[in-house]
Amino acid sequence: MLDVVIIGGGVVGCAVARELSRYDLRILLLEKTADICNGQSKANTAIVHGGYDAQPGTNKAKFNLLGNAMFEQICTELEVPFKRNGSLVVAFEGDDEQMIDRLFERGQENGVPGLSIIDREEILRREPNLNPTAKRALLVRNAGICCPYELTQAYAENAACNGAEFIREAEVTSILPNPQSGWLVRSMAGEFETRAVINCAGIYADKINDMVSQDHFSIHPRRGEYYIVDKKYAGKFTSTIFQIPTRLGKGILVAPTVDGTILLGPTADDIQDRDDTRSTAEGLKKVLAGAGKSWPELPGRAFITTFSGVRAHCDRDDFIIGEAKDAPLFFNAAGIESPGLSSAPAIADYLAKMVAKRLKAAQNPNFDPHRAAIPKFREMSCQERKLAIAKNPDFARIVCRCETVSEAEIRESIRRPVGARTVDGVKRRTRAGMGRCQAGFCTARVVEILCEELGKSPLEITKCGGESKMLTGFLFNRGGGEE
Ligand SMILES: Cc1cc2nc3c(=O)[nH]c(=O)nc-3n(C[C@H](O)[C@H](O)[C@H](O)COP(=O)(O)OP(=O)(O)OC[C@H]3O[C@@H](n4cnc5c(N)ncnc54)[C@H](O)[C@@H]3O)c2cc1C
Repeated sequence: MLDVVIIGGGVVGCAVARELSRYDLRILLLEKTADICNGQSKANTAIVHGGYDAQPGTNKAKFNLLGNAMFEQICTELEVPFKRNGSLVVAFEGDDEQMIDRLFERGQENGVPGLSIIDREEILRREPNLNPTAKRALLVRNAGICCPYELTQAYAENAACNGAEFIREAEVTSILPNPQSGWLVRSMAGEFETRAVINCAGIYADKINDMVSQDHFSIHPRRGEYYIVDKKYAGKFTSTIFQIPTRLGKGILVAPTVDGTILLGPTADDIQDRDDTRSTAEGLKKVLAGAGKSWPELPGRAFITTFSGVRAHCDRDDFIIGEAKDAPLFFNAAGIESPGLSSAPAIADYLAKMVAKRLKAAQNPNFDPHRAAIPKFREMSCQERKLAIAKNPDFARIVCRCETVSEAEIRESIRRPVGARTVDGVKRRTRAGMGRCQAGFCTARVVEILCEELGKSPLEITKCGGESKMLTGFLFNRGGGEE
């Protein structure tokens, strides 16, 4: 019998698994798709928000502020890229200027440290490529950026090293009361008896809650579309550039990433299908119009690709965190839209302590908070490269030329706990395929390495699980005849 089943392997579920692994508990995380970090956590703006935007007194305001302050420690322990680059909310016209005052006051009320309002001269001194028609801006010094995939993977790896189990392709289909244990969780990977269940199912968290509780809420999918700007333009902006937030979201941003690309977006469009992550001509047009307002010199040939993510917007307009009133030992982390990435460390800390207390769990005496990142060949000095190659000649074979990713890194991403099983899984763990050519060059070799490491045929390798097969058949069989 298990102590805790966590449903959903996004940043929240994986962070909860890691924080719970501080205790002497049998923990299992069930993820519906072929990999962790396949939902909102893979498709967002990667900002660690300052916390000025949420309504005072809400869970969003509370967990954003607490989570933001935890990022240095978490990202040091787990070796995840994180930078406090600060953000600017820029007023360009009319009412915008009053909104800056309002956001400043709201930020003060939420307890955000180091907020100030700066004038045009200071804005352009900080960001010379910003539209010179900027009038005033809210400077949010504590805002940062991180790598959301690496954070999610690092949480999962560390949780696994501390004893938590992960099963992918394990969609939870029902949860039933069970006199022996508390709950019986039925999934596509089997049935599990457990004392407690934690719902971290992202845009499906309402469906999971409905399986056990009469205290209903509903999640409404809201899509955000983006362009990614080539690394060639790294350094054009230092801070994350916001415009005035709207009722639907934080507006179109120009957002530098820890990897040197710049994200433009997201849009905020309510949609019907929760899994509809298409990029649309209409959406991308809005992105260009919005981003062009902040970055008038935006080069038309700068983009390497587009993507979109679907926000889990809840009808209660706040995070729902805690034990369900009518379902003992069933806990929700639901409605976790933005600032969910920023809040994940604090949500996980809060929930893990609450669950451990309810289960009267002892500490795990062997808990190790540290996880070492996969060594990145592109970041090594010449001397470090020589040493790495001497130890492991696979470092000398560069598979992804755009991002300088070596074979050694790809093999390690597959061998690690909760390792890559798909082409996208390798991409998110190593950046192979994320560069200018968008995997045009390295895909075949990545498929080959996946086959070698997993003992699979190329026909079994998928892009991201399910039917997303990379190859449909052989033109010739091994004897040379047609198949
Ligand atoms: C466009 C966009 C921009 C954003 N920008 C930011 C930002 O800059 N900063 C910020 O702080 N936040 C941002 N966010 C919000 C942030 O990304 C999310 O709040 C966070 O990733 C939520 O993590 P999660 O683990 O709750 O959900 P998810 O990452 O969605 O994970 C949920 C997981 O549950 C799995 N699942 C669902 N149903 C089942 C089932 N039945 N059985 C098993 N598994 C199941 C899913 O497959 C998925 O992997 C943004 C979100 C979007 C969409």
